[in-house]
Amino acid sequence: MSISFSSDGEEKIVTSTSFQPEDAAEGSLRPRTLDEYIGQEKAKENLRIFIQAAKLRGEALDHVLLHGPPGLGKTTLAGIIANEMGVNLRITSGPSIEKAGDLAALLTNLQENDILFVDEIHRLDRAVEEVLYPAMEDFVIDIIIGKGPSANSIRLDLPHFTLIGATTRSGQLTAPLRDRFGVTLRLELYTPEELARIVTRSAGILGIEIEPEGAREIASRSRGTPRIANRMLRRVRDFAQVTAGGVITRAVANDALLRLDVDRDGLDALDRRMLRAIIDYYGGGPVGLETLAATINEEAVTLEDVYEPYLMQQGYLTRTPRGRCVTRKAFEHLGLEFHGQESMEL
Ligand code: ADP
Repeated sequence: MSISFSSDGEEKIVTSTSFQPEDAAEGSLRPRTLDEYIGQEKAKENLRIFIQAAKLRGEALDHVLLHGPPGLGKTTLAGIIANEMGVNLRITSGPSIEKAGDLAALLTNLQENDILFVDEIHRLDRAVEEVLYPAMEDFVIDIIIGKGPSANSIRLDLPHFTLIGATTRSGQLTAPLRDRFGVTLRLELYTPEELARIVTRSAGILGIEIEPEGAREIASRSRGTPRIANRMLRRVRDFAQVTAGGVITRAVANDALLRLDVDRDGLDALDRRMLRAIIDYYGGGPVGLETLAATINEEAVTLEDVYEPYLMQQGYLTRTPRGRCVTRKAFEHLGLEFHGQESMEL
């Protein structure tokens, strides 16, 4: 049995959840209001109430932590909250705030009730994080002026602001930081029906003609992720224009996605490689994440954040205390005879 480790960049880009240069047009597809934001009903319902209550009191919204896999709409939601609250939004990310001074500059430039969005907040430097605690809790920061024995600490008042933190891994947040968020919202992978609505909406904005069956085909193959669905839509449009007079039908979508190496169940080459490696080298599992990552030459975080959520949601993979196991469904999908233990599927 042979397994190929070559990875051709093409299929990785179309199903990658991370932001790609070709997604630059995403801005125009971003919903601006809660009503336009499709799916995530539970998170939306809660937010609607919190926003209304804060507006009634004329106060800043409580700090919000958004967590969930990439591409599900965390940045979009931060924009919507700012829009619904009628305040400014400043966007930054954990790794780009290098020093405590950088954060102090950001905070002191905010206006009353403004929103500071910090993407990848689990990657904040610890010294920077400590500045954030009093800022979040009491709206003050302590700044040290000067050096050595003559150094002086002064306390600055900040405007009341809302911090919206986004993370793909809430488990990596330190407890003191996590505890300072009044609202925590978990974003879930989208259902194919919700994604079909997103694809149809995006097609309308981009002026692409699409049949309902075409939208459903793209939706069911985009790993529960709007970013992927929108990217697939743009790719499939190219095929539709060249081969089918510009209309995206089910057949055009199917043909285009197969060419992009996304199979009928929405798995891409890396998904299949991962499942195949667990079967070929570890008898179907269990295998530890790091070992598996080394076997297929990928980063463990990528497998954990990007690939596993979808494979688990679709029932191809399970996580056990001893490691990852594939299910009967995975064997069947790869056209192999099942030789794992039935109990693994529990
Ligand atoms: P994240 O910050 O979680 O990585 P983004 O907010 O950048 O994800 O969303 C990626 C793209 O997906 C956005 O450009 C937006 O067009 C689309 N999108 C995300 N969520 C929704 C939604 N609920 N309804 C419609 N489009 C969405």
